[in-house]
Amino acid sequence: MQQQPCPTPGVLEVITGPMFSGKSEELIRRLKRARIARQRVACFKPDIDLRYHRTAIASHSQQTHEAEVIRNVEDLRARLFPMLHAVEVVGLDEVQFLSGAIVPLATELVALGKRVLAAGLDMTFTAEPFGPVPHLMAMADKVTKLSAVCMVCGQSAIHTQRLGQSQELVIVGATGLYEARCRTHFSPFLDEHHSEQLELTATA
Ligand SMILES: [Zn+2]
Repeated sequence: MQQQPCPTPGVLEVITGPMFSGKSEELIRRLKRARIARQRVACFKPDIDLRYHRTAIASHSQQTHEAEVIRNVEDLRARLFPMLHAVEVVGLDEVQFLSGAIVPLATELVALGKRVLAAGLDMTFTAEPFGPVPHLMAMADKVTKLSAVCMVCGQSAIHTQRLGQSQELVIVGATGLYEARCRTHFSPFLDEHHSEQLELTATA
């Protein structure tokens, strides 16, 4: 059977897991590899991530990559589409803070032949599915679920544990306020059940 020539399809790759699992580091690694392969890369992150840099994505291991800060998915679309003809790879960090509108946009980009790399937390600090990430995972060509190291026992950790009773808002990535925990040693604070939503509304 003769194969039909077809346009190169895009792909959606999701990199997920708890905090301290190396998601941003893995995103940066893939973006750098794409650059070495002479592919043109655009990277974005929501402006809720205040740790380390305003205009770069940063991993906990100090690796960085330039990223445009976006307010929301509409802002992302407005910035990305004028340059889309010159972009082959689109990187998105902290994608859990974007609305569900990122799902149809990612699908649209893949249909246009783009490689979309989306990194973000799969679960909140109360172990609920986080924002659009589970949906993106379902739609993805490839999902990389990373684990961290439990700070109590050293086993593989899938949870992000919030420490203390802090009511401070927007403490994303603040070292010391969160740590990775395994299933056995994870215990969400029941009286802080809406903490993730508080973080979101505080910066809207
Ligand atoms: Zn443990």
